[in-house]
Amino acid sequence: MTIAELFQSAVGANRLSDSPELDCQLLLCFVLGVDSSYLKTWPERQVSDDQSTQFNRLLQRRLDGEPVAYLIGSQGFWSLDLKVSPATLIPRPETELLVEVALDLALPEQASVLDLGTGTGAIALALATERSRWEICAVDLQQQAVDLAERNRQRYQLDNVRLFASNWFAAIPAQRFDLIVSNPPYIEANDPHLSQGDLRFEPASALVSGDDGLGDLRLVCTQSVDYLNRGGWLLLEHGFDQGAAVRELLDQAGFASVETRRDLNGLERLTLACRSD
Ligand code: GLN
Repeated sequence: MTIAELFQSAVGANRLSDSPELDCQLLLCFVLGVDSSYLKTWPERQVSDDQSTQFNRLLQRRLDGEPVAYLIGSQGFWSLDLKVSPATLIPRPETELLVEVALDLALPEQASVLDLGTGTGAIALALATERSRWEICAVDLQQQAVDLAERNRQRYQLDNVRLFASNWFAAIPAQRFDLIVSNPPYIEANDPHLSQGDLRFEPASALVSGDDGLGDLRLVCTQSVDYLNRGGWLLLEHGFDQGAAVRELLDQAGFASVETRRDLNGLERLTLACRSD
């Protein structure tokens, strides 16, 4: 079979997801060990029986709902190709907004930054590639996530990021940061989306936060004040319907300049605030 034939039969026969072409492309590139331009340049190249068997097995798992990122073990985020595992959330494109907003803030040249609940390391590593003089600390409750993020860090030789395990602020030294960022778990325990799509395969510890989804956001809003320099910023990703609640939490914690930004879908996705006093 040729690349083109295998690709066509896979895309045509299956309703994988709302992006069947992209899914098939990513799986085929992974199996063949090539990039997508290779598929387009060499459609008439033969695929071995082993490769086509491996591809069809992955395709079946995709049909059973497994996220492509877990099947191929990686996910693009910002300019990086990050290793992912079922121990971590798969980085989402929406979260790139948080990186953009962080890069736009007026911060010191050598800003000290804390990323809480780093998962694959996505936010911390994206910031580190853009700002080599920032000193970034990134933590996660799960040691497996810390190990994975460390592999991602090493791959890009980002020496300005330090990773370790911490339950939110529990293992953070008494230090003040210029910027704290977090994409914490924020889904309600009984949200029906948890039994749909990719979320079924992701760790609940990275998704769910108490009955109202605000448990961890509440903790981070309350405790961040004690870890920020005066003039330092807190940036939090949250659910599309949590903007008002997060703004209120930040107001109550004494933050100033509280402001919510919308993602590309027009949904309230992150809120930022400044420690002014
Ligand atoms: N943005 C993810 C989703 O709703 C959830 C991520 C999170 O809880 N931090 O699919």
